[in-house]
Amino acid sequence: MTRTNLLDLSHPQLASLLAELGEPAYRARQVWGWLYKRFALSIDEMTDLPAYLRARLAERAEVRLPAVIRALTSDDSLTRKLLLKLDDGNVIESVLMMYDLTEESRERRTVCVSTQAGCAVGCPFCATGQMGFVRNLTSGEIVAQVLLFARELSSARPGQKQAPAKAAAEGETHLPITNIVFMGMGEPLLNYANLWQAVERLHDPQGFNLGARRMTISTSGIIPGILTLATEKLQVNLAVSLHAPNDKLRNIMVPVNRKYPIADLMKACRSYFEATKRRITFEYVLNDQVNASEELAHELGKLLKGMLCHVNLIPVNPTDATFSRPKRDVVLAFQRIVESYGIATTVRVEKGVEIRAACGQLSAKQAKAS
Ligand code: SF4
Repeated sequence: MTRTNLLDLSHPQLASLLAELGEPAYRARQVWGWLYKRFALSIDEMTDLPAYLRARLAERAEVRLPAVIRALTSDDSLTRKLLLKLDDGNVIESVLMMYDLTEESRERRTVCVSTQAGCAVGCPFCATGQMGFVRNLTSGEIVAQVLLFARELSSARPGQKQAPAKAAAEGETHLPITNIVFMGMGEPLLNYANLWQAVERLHDPQGFNLGARRMTISTSGIIPGILTLATEKLQVNLAVSLHAPNDKLRNIMVPVNRKYPIADLMKACRSYFEATKRRITFEYVLNDQVNASEELAHELGKLLKGMLCHVNLIPVNPTDATFSRPKRDVVLAFQRIVESYGIATTVRVEKGVEIRAACGQLSAKQAKAS
């Protein structure tokens, strides 16, 4: 019989399991703390549970985390990527990005999480998109990616003085994860139920306790998912991968646009804003000779003018695909034009190019090699 993965359970489900074993309610809180505050890798590690309980729990359940088959750290030690093998042999990736932004209050340690093995959306600039869809991840497989990095960051010696991001990279201090972006392999809103369970579990103040506003869900524009998200009580951030300001180009850049065209997508984004009053981020990967022209910058500015939004311009990461990164002055010209329409923009800090930190790059390589 397959044992239950404790990471697949909500807090009430864990409480039911322990109640079935005849245990009082506080035992569930204890186990929950081991999973989400102390990042236990096994029931054996839960040493303040009596031995008889650990043995009985282990008959029914286990802590099942994906196996780390490769770990890569960038040259500046601030980006770390894990290649993870799931139970069924599928491989996914997760990335930890540490931003040493000088002012201590602004330091960020962000985990980029995968929600599916492969992806059905098929964006041509994305290595995952070129793999096709394999399957949805379970909620446990989603939270496990965060917990693995949290464990790495917590294995450390508190109180030391050097720059925290650097120290964390060297594994020398206890630093919490500050942000989670559901932006790794897969389309999160096509795995909505498991995604949302993971969000709620990571938000739970009795456990991992990460504020909803520190979590960002990135979508290629799945309208039903955006509308459902607008009804949720937890107000996570929404990022929409736009990548083109008109249907003709977006049908190529983000093929799901044929099903959910730009006019409908903008309508859904406005409904989301009306319901949540939360600013939306639009992601725009800049591909040289494809979507980085001044004309398209004007078109983008006109499309978004008047919306409370932010545009994140991302010079494309070099992949095996046929796109190339525009020169810096092209990126800056594009940015200036969009901003002239009163829209806030940033050019995303490029991180981990040398370790193929962009979504799916490493597992695509692994798949080709195997
Ligand atoms: S960019 Fe995102 S939505 Fe597009 S193929 Fe890659 S993983 Fe899927």
